Amino acid sequence: MFFFMGLYAGQGDDRVEFIRPVVGYFCNLCQLIYADEDEAKLQHCRSQTHYRKYQEKTGKDPWTNTT
Ligand SMILES: [Zn+2]
Repeated sequence: MFFFMGLYAGQGDDRVEFIRPVVGYFCNLCQLIYADEDEAKLQHCRSQTHYRKYQEKTGKDPWTNTT
């Protein structure tokens, strides 16, 4: 799309705040995207934020494994 290049240039860089990468690991519960697999699956899934949302969604407690 070379046609649009530079068309609206020079108006400030604040417009880039809505640009974000779509390749990565997305947590559908927390609406968060992680570029790193380990960070998403290991660190995030152990976080309190994810844990609480998991409980809300499933009604389960993944740590005590009680019903
Ligand atoms: Zn999460």
